[in-house]
Amino acid sequence: MTAAPTWTITSVRDALLAKKTSAHELVKDFYDQIERRNPELNAFLALCPERAYAQAGRVDAAITKGQPLPPLAGVPVAVKDVISAQGVRTTCGSKILENYTPPYDATAIERLEKAGAVVLGKTNCDEFAMGSSNENSAYGPVRNPVALDRVPGGSSGGSAAAVAAGLAVVALGTDTGGSIRQPGAYCGIPALMPTYGRVSRYGLIAFASSLDRIGPFATNISDTATVISVTAGYDSNDSTSAAVAVPDYLAEIEKPVLGLRIGVPEDYFGAGLDPEVKTKVQAGISLLEKLGCKRVPLKMPHTDYAIATYYIVATAEASSNLARYDGVRYGLRVQGNTLMEMYRKTRERGFGPEVKRRIMLGTYALSSGYYDAYYLRAQKVRSLIARDFASAFEKVDAIVTPTTPTAAFKLGEKTADPLQMYLADIYTVTGSLAGVPGISVPCGKTATGLPIGMQIFGSHFDEARILQLARAFEKAGGFSI
Ligand code: GLN
Repeated sequence: MTAAPTWTITSVRDALLAKKTSAHELVKDFYDQIERRNPELNAFLALCPERAYAQAGRVDAAITKGQPLPPLAGVPVAVKDVISAQGVRTTCGSKILENYTPPYDATAIERLEKAGAVVLGKTNCDEFAMGSSNENSAYGPVRNPVALDRVPGGSSGGSAAAVAAGLAVVALGTDTGGSIRQPGAYCGIPALMPTYGRVSRYGLIAFASSLDRIGPFATNISDTATVISVTAGYDSNDSTSAAVAVPDYLAEIEKPVLGLRIGVPEDYFGAGLDPEVKTKVQAGISLLEKLGCKRVPLKMPHTDYAIATYYIVATAEASSNLARYDGVRYGLRVQGNTLMEMYRKTRERGFGPEVKRRIMLGTYALSSGYYDAYYLRAQKVRSLIARDFASAFEKVDAIVTPTTPTAAFKLGEKTADPLQMYLADIYTVTGSLAGVPGISVPCGKTATGLPIGMQIFGSHFDEARILQLARAFEKAGGFSI
């Protein structure tokens, strides 16, 4: 068990302005905590003290000079190790990038630092973000700070654990099929997957390019809103980033939710959903109704096909994206007598079993003769799933579901059966395929004290609406019903 996180973006700001602490001292305190807790949690893979203290120094200098502070001034953040940070080892949780140091910063990191944030280090994750438990990391699993014998979820398990354990105030994760929302649910903290295209992917090392998104973990909704405000918005370095205006989320979240229509799809409450999770999520929905939201029953008939569709689309894209790790350009190289032997040995040693499995699946789905039967068909079903969302959003403002079918499972419990592991994302992959934003918010615990997550989907670029609902839910005590 761990002490509850004590710092928020607001409390950091207040303490700095009141000179109760300095950005430098804060960084030191966080590094002390990390030193104490990380051997057990394994949440961080690399720390960057030089960079962190330099940034803290800039914040402290601004305070001394009485300059206005940017929104994240002095806030210690952690960043998932698939997001490039110049000069900081970035491994993607893989042996193939064990000694890789990016020559540039991801846009999301650049924007965080411009807003005054202090990057403490890089967090552990499933290899190339492929996984639901963090057990696919080449650097060992992360433990869930709420229950050390349990997984923190994946693939952004290190970022979720770091925030839940108070080793960072906020963190960046990535979500391709559930990797922000699911670990958020397992670790009991809010976790936001923004709309596809909302946050630049420049500098995010690709898993499945049409699905990958960067988003925040925090301990409250106001902090979540601040991080997304800072990171969202068009970036000319990412051709898929959207030129859509970014609203003032901090103002939006305080708006009343009275009259908002929340859709509840029956397809998310059927077989396979743990009864304790179901009860808490239903209690969460009742609370939203008490706050004045109107509940609208929904049918989203293609939900059942989402896992199969996701694992074809994602593996197909991964097989193409990961072709770049060939031992020639960067990353690991294992010598061989011929070029082919060098490729083979490099990949054999560099990639873990799940990554190899996905490259094979994806290559198969894209190969001539099978393309029509698998990849093309999956793309068609993806459109049907997106249509389910589009027609739901003609009737409702948001959709509320469980985030995951169960609470955090035990380390080792699902490693022998990849299909069981894939089912941990059954409620999250739908929104990933549709490109819509989704947030997981805590909604109480199981009888044994494990956090449960409630998921709220919004329509494209309507993060404000789901944050607004999440904030109302938080204020009404929903996080601990
Ligand atoms: N667990 C899913 C997978 O293994 C999702 C991962 C993710 O969102 N990065 O692909």
